[in-house]
Amino acid sequence: MQMILLGPPGAGKGTQAKTLAERLKLPHISTGDLLRQNVSSGSELGKLAKDFMNKGALVPDELVTRMLGERINKPDVKGGFILDGYPRNISQAEALDDMLSKKNKEIDFVVYLDTSEPVVIQRLSGRLVCSSCGANFHTTNMPPKVAMVCDNCNGKLYQRSDDNPGTIKKRLQVYLEESSPLIKYYSDRNKLHRLSADGDKDIVLNEIIDLVEKSNDTDKV
Ligand code: ADP
Ligand code: ZN
Repeated sequence: MQMILLGPPGAGKGTQAKTLAERLKLPHISTGDLLRQNVSSGSELGKLAKDFMNKGALVPDELVTRMLGERINKPDVKGGFILDGYPRNISQAEALDDMLSKKNKEIDFVVYLDTSEPVVIQRLSGRLVCSSCGANFHTTNMPPKVAMVCDNCNGKLYQRSDDNPGTIKKRLQVYLEESSPLIKYYSDRNKLHRLSADGDKDIVLNEIIDLVEKSNDTDKV
């Protein structure tokens, strides 16, 4: 199954995708995580992407699409994936459709995590990320057991450099202008499943799993 999680920054795409990936035994592909790995390793791509990311702007399509293309050609992606952070505009959605159709595949399922702006701002401004395993925590919503230490792996937690008020505002604006048209793109293709993601992360997770199971049932009929 090729699945996309769509929604504004702070909707919980990364948090949900990580758990879903374990449950559904599919790889989680996050273009944000892949880009951050490139920035911290100092690769050519990382050097090119860094300033865009710090400003809250999109990294140019050509760079991100090439990076994603390499990732989805790896053997672990044969049975599908859960994609988070891509596509972020219509031209990326078209590029993805093209890449998949060359493999005789298509996007099966898009979940849109509908989230209100105050919730998004509260989540992003308190978000903490594990520097070793990438797990997400939150200073008040999901505090780690020990301050600034990951519950899963004891790694050090940090605050992302783009999770500051100015950059958050810019990311939300970019989302509205460039990414929100994707809702129509996938709903026109009958792939969109919308749910409210303002609530607790476990409730949202169960709702996503219900949707996936229901769609598997209808496929069998
Ligand atoms: P969020 O969705 O919370 O903003 P991400 O980790 O998905 O965070 O992305 C962080 C940054 O990485 C974005 O602001 C953007 O600069 C860059 N980025 C990630 N995915 C893409 C993409 N598909 N196209 C362009 N830029 C991207
Ligand atoms: Zn960790």
